[in-house]
Amino acid sequence: MPNVYIKTYGCQMNERDSEQVAQMLVSRGHRMVTSETEADVILLNTCSVRDMAEQKAIGKMGMLRKLRRTRPHLVLGYLGCMAQARGAQLLNVSPHADLIVGTQKFHRVADYVDELLARRQEIRMDDERLPIVDTDEEAGSQSTIRDHSAEGGVITAFISIMQGCNMRCAFCIVPRTRGSERARSIEEIVKETEGLIDRGVREITLLGQIVNLYGRHEFEKVDGKSPFVQLLERLHQLNGLERIRFTSPHPIGFREDLIESFACLPKLMEHVHLPLQSGSDRILKLMRRGYTAQQYLKLVEKLRAARPGIAITTDVIVGFPGETEEDYQATREICQTVGFDNAFIFRYSSRKETIAADMEQQIPEEVKENRNQDLLCLINANCEAKLENHVGTQVEILCEGPSKTNPSRLSGRTRTNKIVIFEGSERHIGQIFKVFITKSSSNTLYGDPAILA
Ligand code: SF4
Repeated sequence: MPNVYIKTYGCQMNERDSEQVAQMLVSRGHRMVTSETEADVILLNTCSVRDMAEQKAIGKMGMLRKLRRTRPHLVLGYLGCMAQARGAQLLNVSPHADLIVGTQKFHRVADYVDELLARRQEIRMDDERLPIVDTDEEAGSQSTIRDHSAEGGVITAFISIMQGCNMRCAFCIVPRTRGSERARSIEEIVKETEGLIDRGVREITLLGQIVNLYGRHEFEKVDGKSPFVQLLERLHQLNGLERIRFTSPHPIGFREDLIESFACLPKLMEHVHLPLQSGSDRILKLMRRGYTAQQYLKLVEKLRAARPGIAITTDVIVGFPGETEEDYQATREICQTVGFDNAFIFRYSSRKETIAADMEQQIPEEVKENRNQDLLCLINANCEAKLENHVGTQVEILCEGPSKTNPSRLSGRTRTNKIVIFEGSERHIGQIFKVFITKSSSNTLYGDPAILA
């Protein structure tokens, strides 16, 4: 029984893709292991969004080569976004890689791994290794990410509802690595969710690169409601499902019907991740984001009116080509005005074959770093203050299981997606209940169960 280790870089969609690949391998008799030192097959599921993520994976693959000295049969592979973007060229930097599989071919990974393992039985080490490279497009590949780990006791799950993106944000490589928008059907997603509920899942997070524009090319509006809102409403009716989240949306996809959903669908959690990217209209236009700072602020206002107390988190890029100090100050100002619950701040990283890569006025790294640090201070202070406000209050959480940092304690999430750590017992896991918050740190809340004693 070969042992397989998968290392995942990047976003939740990559995590979900890795889970799918792992499940397929397990169903064929492979065993998933948590360390590369015990593996016969090591797969790196890669991210292309920033250069640093690519370099990390390439560096890792370089180090893995050394393992071949003691384990010559080892199979090494690249999966996902960087594999898609670079294809066979990756063999120039990693000539020892056996497998390169793109984003539309995750469902073929198990076949390729088996083929490579079978070949290992036949060839001697000095024979030529013939790598397998598959980065072709495949119709219907969005529906192949649907299996979940067979492990029991899972309370929350990610569901991939679409793949790809048709937007052309100037900085983004995703349309190239993930292809055009392709949605799964509502029926298929509902069926997958029902299966998860039967296994004890109480909260789902719907995933897509531009998740709130789900199905816009495939399905009609019904009663003025977008396919995404139709999907939310169908899922909301499922007994046993208590919480629904989604990520990552685009601000332009928040039309009235979706905003209204936050007022009408109590299972839709009060948290929205709303990528801002910049607070300067000039930069937003160069980025091709399709909204202005004022329109973004208006949207925040509407969401807060529809669901008071809703948490809003965001992504911001600092140092986009041509970003002046004035542009940066506009970003800073909007961050202050909105008072985000948290934010991912990125220094702009040039990606080949994106519109921004060829723009003049690339910003020096030092300037990017200063803006990054300055904005981080502002966001962290805000995040800390928001958490502190919870001390002395009761919040509803869904207990997900032992805390990752201290397994002797339990961890849950509030409706606004904040982590709460508390002393509890087995019977709390999978339950929704109130916790009295006694303490907060820079990114976590601490408390005691208030009702389920
Ligand atoms: S909408 Fe998101 S995924 Fe699509 S191009 Fe823009 S940043 Fe990339």
